[in-house]
Amino acid sequence: MNCLDCQSTHVSQNGHRGAKQNYLCGDSGHQFIDSYSPKGYPDPLKGKGLKLYVTVLAASINLLLHYLKFWEIPLLPHIIS
Ligand SMILES: [Zn+2]
Repeated sequence: MNCLDCQSTHVSQNGHRGAKQNYLCGDSGHQFIDSYSPKGYPDPLKGKGLKLYVTVLAASINLLLHYLKFWEIPLLPHIIS
C-alpha cells in the first residue's frame, strides 16, 4: 500500500471509516481510504472487462489466423528456402 499523496510506503492502518480501511502516511501525514480493496467489494465490471478482453483477443487471433492462412501459400516456399 502506497500513500496516494506522496507514494510513500510508510503507511500505517488508522482505523476504519465505515467498512473501509483508513490509512495514515508516516511521511506526509496524508490520510486516505483504501478504495482499491476487493474486501466485501465484488467487482462485476472487472469480470466483464476481462471477458471483453478475452473476446477481443480471440477475435484478434482469429483475424491473425485468417491472414496467416491467406498468406500461407505464397509465403511458405520463401520461408523454407
Ligand atoms: Zn504520504
